[in-house]
Order: sequence, then C-alpha cells, then structure tokens
Amino acid sequence: MKQVILSLAMLFLLMETAAAHAASVKLGSMQVFPLLDMQGESPVSLLVGATEEQIARYVPDGKLKSQILAFLVKFPDRTVLFDTGLGAARGGKMMDALKEANVSPSDIDAVFLTHLHMDHFGGLADAGGKAVFPRAEVYVSRVERDWWLDEKKDENVKKAFAPYEDRLRVFEFGETPLPGITAVDTSGHTPGHAAFHVKAGDGELLVAGDILHFAEIQLPLPQMAVKYDTDPEKAPQARKYLLDMAAEKNIPVAGMHCPVPGIWRIAASGGGYEKSGVIQGN
Ligand SMILES: [Zn+2]
Repeated sequence: MKQVILSLAMLFLLMETAAAHAASVKLGSMQVFPLLDMQGESPVSLLVGATEEQIARYVPDGKLKSQILAFLVKFPDRTVLFDTGLGAARGGKMMDALKEANVSPSDIDAVFLTHLHMDHFGGLADAGGKAVFPRAEVYVSRVERDWWLDEKKDENVKKAFAPYEDRLRVFEFGETPLPGITAVDTSGHTPGHAAFHVKAGDGELLVAGDILHFAEIQLPLPQMAVKYDTDPEKAPQARKYLLDMAAEKNIPVAGMHCPVPGIWRIAASGGGYEKSGVIQGN
C-alpha cells in the first residue's frame, strides 16, 4: 500500500513537472508560457471570399482549427501577461494554465492587450466585476481604447476596465511602454490592434495578437480576411507587414489563435508564408 501511494505521488509529481514546464520556452533571458484558454472548431463561413477550390485545398474537412491562447512572459525583473483569454465566467481556462505554470494572479506586473475583443480582454475582471490581477497595470493602444470606449461605447470593455481605472495605461504605436516591449501598428483587424515586439537579452518574440486567426489558410493565402476583421482590406496588410518582419529577421511569432504551443518561426513561401519551425518547451 505504501508503495502504491509513493508511486502515485511520484507520478503526480512527474505530471506536475511536465505540466509546469512542458509548454514554456526560453528565449534569451525571458521565459514564455503559452496559456491555452479554449480550443475547438470554426466554420469556413468565417473566411471572407474564400473559393471552394481554396477551401478544398487548405481546409479539406471544412473545419477550421480554432483556439484561444494568452502568453505569459517572465522577464528577469517583471512578469507580463499578453491578453487574458475569455475569462473563467465564459468558460476560459487561461487561469488554470496560469496555475499550472506556478504563477499567481498577484505575480503579474502588467497585462498588455493586443486589442479589445472579448477573447483577449475577457479575463481582466471576474463575474463580480473585480480585478482578477490585483497589482497589474493594464496597457492598451490609445486608438483601441478610444474606439471601444468613445466611439462604440462598449459596455463589456467599460466593465472590464472599471476595476483598473487608476492603473490603465495607453500607448501610441511605435512606443516602448515598458523596457523590452514595443508596440507595432498592426491595425486593421480592429482600429487599434497592436502587436508587440518583445526583447530580453538576445531573445526576441513577436506577440502577434489576431494577425492570424486560421493559420492553415492565412499563411499560404495572407490576403484572406475573416468576418471579425473591422477593416478587411487593411487587416491582410497588417498580417503581411508582421509576417514579413518575422520571416526577414527570423523572429518567432506567438499567435493568440495559432495551434498550441502557438510559437512559430515563419518563412516566406510562394507568395505567402509557411511555418518553418515550432518552438517547443522541454
Ligand atoms: Zn481573437
């Protein structure tokens, strides 16, 4: 009996270790944790203007792979969360993934939001309207904040930001609001959509937000917009801009809707792009 308990304990320990370390990736002096919030499938009807031929070639079973990820980056001197998933109240599992990474919500110094769609900011506040991250400053692009709060008067965004009122920080594109984190103008999917060029030591990462929704078709056909794009002309231009940068400088891309682990190297290929490597933890 004692032996059984011991081996169960060991198994548990191994699993815990695996869960805590399996997905994290070391890039220079930062440790990156992909945090899976949700996964499933989406219909091809979300693609704008896809031909039957394109669908048959790139999405043969007619189902687009769909997932939501957030990324936690541990810098030597601070811990930053990029996006928050949907929120536990809507079935998002990001907080469980955070726990598996042995990170508590109070460890997080800053939350950077790529844009203000629910699957990215929904985890900021809990069902009772309280801040999920008790100490974190929340960063969003000024254009994005103004669009959702002043133009759209979006109640969900208002509620999510309410408990962070005195620690909400806005940035302009091209600025570096915190050392090692520069905002890249990738507007189009939403008016103020930001990607982040993250650097620590000799490590670099492009946190891409919604530059890719359905990589299986948008990498080979970067012109393919999705119904969620506010500006379906501009969104593909932003995709090409960021993916060109990733390919030319060989910087890994972390995509919020890319299949787990969601961190890829990108290469130019036949007028579009391809995944040239997956960056896995060990
Ligand atoms: Zn999204």
